[in-house]
Amino acid sequence: MNGLLADQAHINHPVAVLNEVSKHYGSGITKVKALDNLNLTIHQGDYLAVMGASGSGKSTAMNILGCLDRPTSGSYQLNGLAVEDLDDDALADLRNQELGFVFQQFHLLPQATAIENVMLPMVYAGISAEQRREKATDALARVGLAQRTGNRPNQLSGGQQQRVAIARAIINQPALLLADEPTGALDSKTTEDVLNLFDDLHKQGITLVLVTHEDDVAARAKRVARFRDGHIVDITTQH
Ligand code: ADP
Ligand code: MG
Repeated sequence: MNGLLADQAHINHPVAVLNEVSKHYGSGITKVKALDNLNLTIHQGDYLAVMGASGSGKSTAMNILGCLDRPTSGSYQLNGLAVEDLDDDALADLRNQELGFVFQQFHLLPQATAIENVMLPMVYAGISAEQRREKATDALARVGLAQRTGNRPNQLSGGQQQRVAIARAIINQPALLLADEPTGALDSKTTEDVLNLFDDLHKQGITLVLVTHEDDVAARAKRVARFRDGHIVDITTQH
């Protein structure tokens, strides 16, 4: 069984490949090397936890993986596409179609209902309002919020808001789901709910990268990468 899973990990195609990626801010004596020759390959079906001290480059790496930011040097391939060759419009399309984001502070629109928040990423996807509503309803059911589609964020608990954000993140079936400290603002019971949801999504084949400071959160992932000074100093496979 373990041998088979290990073999499959090799067969699964690489979703994201960072090759010698650096990201520098500022210049001269104020220059900060947020990323310094980072190498990382994420295969389809991976569940990677990213750990490391504050300032070690975790969020910068997530922003680059998520095409929210571009490397200063090095290359990034997402689903076989060289991201550095794409203009800003193509990058925005790629972000919308291939990437899902979950943040610590849910980033939901306060005036929009749960279903309206989840429908947002489909605005550009060229499908009818009725189909969008149907897909958003399904996504909310998938995260256990079938009864809450009409609630606004301030009518939902923190854990429920994060589940709305997760439904929004998976609505276009992204190649990669990126979560930057998704449980950082949640209590331990709610954290457990959200982690169980990530486990389910992982079992359904979603490729997931999650930044966390907490060992028990990282323990749920398939692999753990430890960042220091803008690159990975240790990467281990857990299960
Ligand atoms: P982490 O998420 O691991 O805490 P970050 O990726 O946010 O780390 O930051 C890595 C380093 O890059 C830090 O030294 C941080 O101060 C710096 N940094 C991040 N974003 C910027 C920015 N927009 N301008 C200047 N420095 C930045
Ligand atoms: Mg960070």
